[in-house]
Amino acid sequence: MFESLSDRLTGALKDLRGKGRLTDADIDSTAREIRLALLEADVALPVVRAFVARVKERAKGHEVSAALNPAQQIVKIVNEELVGILGGETRRLNLAKTPPTVIMLAGLQGAGKTTLAGKLAHFLKKQGHTPMLVACDLQRPGAVDQLKIVGERAGVPTYAPHPGTSVGGEGALGVSAADPVEVARGGIAEARAKQHDVVIVDTAGRLGIDEELMGQARSIRDAVDPDEVLFVLDAMIGQDAVTTAQAFADGVDFTGVVLTKLDGDARGGAALSVREITGKPILFASTGEKLDDFDVFHPDRMSSRILGMGDVLSLIEQAEQHMDQQKAEEAAAKITSGELTLEDFLDQMLMIRKMGPIGNLLGMLPGAGQMKDALAAVDDSQLDRIQAIIRGMTPAERADPKIINASRRLRIAKGSGVTVSDVNQLVDRFFEARKMMSQMAGFGAPKRIPKRKQ
Ligand code: GDP
Repeated sequence: MFESLSDRLTGALKDLRGKGRLTDADIDSTAREIRLALLEADVALPVVRAFVARVKERAKGHEVSAALNPAQQIVKIVNEELVGILGGETRRLNLAKTPPTVIMLAGLQGAGKTTLAGKLAHFLKKQGHTPMLVACDLQRPGAVDQLKIVGERAGVPTYAPHPGTSVGGEGALGVSAADPVEVARGGIAEARAKQHDVVIVDTAGRLGIDEELMGQARSIRDAVDPDEVLFVLDAMIGQDAVTTAQAFADGVDFTGVVLTKLDGDARGGAALSVREITGKPILFASTGEKLDDFDVFHPDRMSSRILGMGDVLSLIEQAEQHMDQQKAEEAAAKITSGELTLEDFLDQMLMIRKMGPIGNLLGMLPGAGQMKDALAAVDDSQLDRIQAIIRGMTPAERADPKIINASRRLRIAKGSGVTVSDVNQLVDRFFEARKMMSQMAGFGAPKRIPKRKQ
């Protein structure tokens, strides 16, 4: 996700490090690099222009901080402005005061609406809601069955027209052509009757934008009076994202955006343009085909990741789902204060291994962008070895790795069946990581989003 953008931006900012004072020329050349990086990532030109102008203006202005050197000051400005174009505050779903909350999904065919319906249901169910899906995509062959399947996977019911029945008459293809608006109405009535507190309405897309599609989406919207209309946008479609988003904003109007396929998108310009162009917030991001490849979109965390500052908060949140609250808080405090021990590290590693693909998790760590190749090489057998090495240490060594001298390293290596250089590598990396985490943790999201000029 955003790999090349992240590489270019961190590259541009790295050149500033070590400079005691920044001249206007330094700022101009950094601004040029940032501009190129954003354009290459497919960010829409007006967004790039406005962004770079704001960064330049602020960098040349007299924003000074006693705590930061000039280079850090620019990173801070870029971070805050990125958070700004990504939407500022995290926008949560609006839930209706009187249930059911109705969420309608709209977007082009293949954008990932049906998949999203399942993910959203799964997400809401985990929070204690009782969602129901409604299959109003009666255009794409198999869409209704696909929705039923994702519904089953998420463990929620799907309201769908029965095959062969026809509410609105036979269609041109001679197949059942139930009216999606009737299905939508029926779905809401069913949800009320069965006391589902959230209804997710999947609608038909087309390969391109057309008036019939917009008309149908509008009719469904008017019939169900949704609390949220989520525009589902495939982040891989590059520059087209902006025109598509604009067409849906004009044609159906929506309350929020969900970006999909961020896993496959190295450029990510859609994410950075869509909020600024449409003025609508991004609520969620999808990063894969599985139900769990989905999360709330946090502008500050996303910016942090793009700038290679890591996403320690998301990592901690995922950890929380697999450990108790108190332990998670202790781990967070230790990471930020630099007091992490190898014992904690082992605990966390065991927990992390329960959490899923290791590459994804490590990708959230500060500096992960620069360690891409190393991360790609991390596999479970290496983790087994690391575990064995830490288990070969005494509790005192785990608690205070500084005491692990040469003779201890030899003993640990022998005891865990590895070489001394394996032990050295682990201990060195642990110190490096601990240092980096504590440095970065205090330097992540801004406390306050600056007011931006319109
Ligand atoms: P719809 O036509 O808008 O309902 O789109 P679908 O939900 O059928 O998704 C189209 C294709 O994209 C399917 O093959 C999905 O598995 C895939 N897909 C959906 N979301 C994601 C995602 O976040 N990442 C990836 N890699 N694939 C996705």
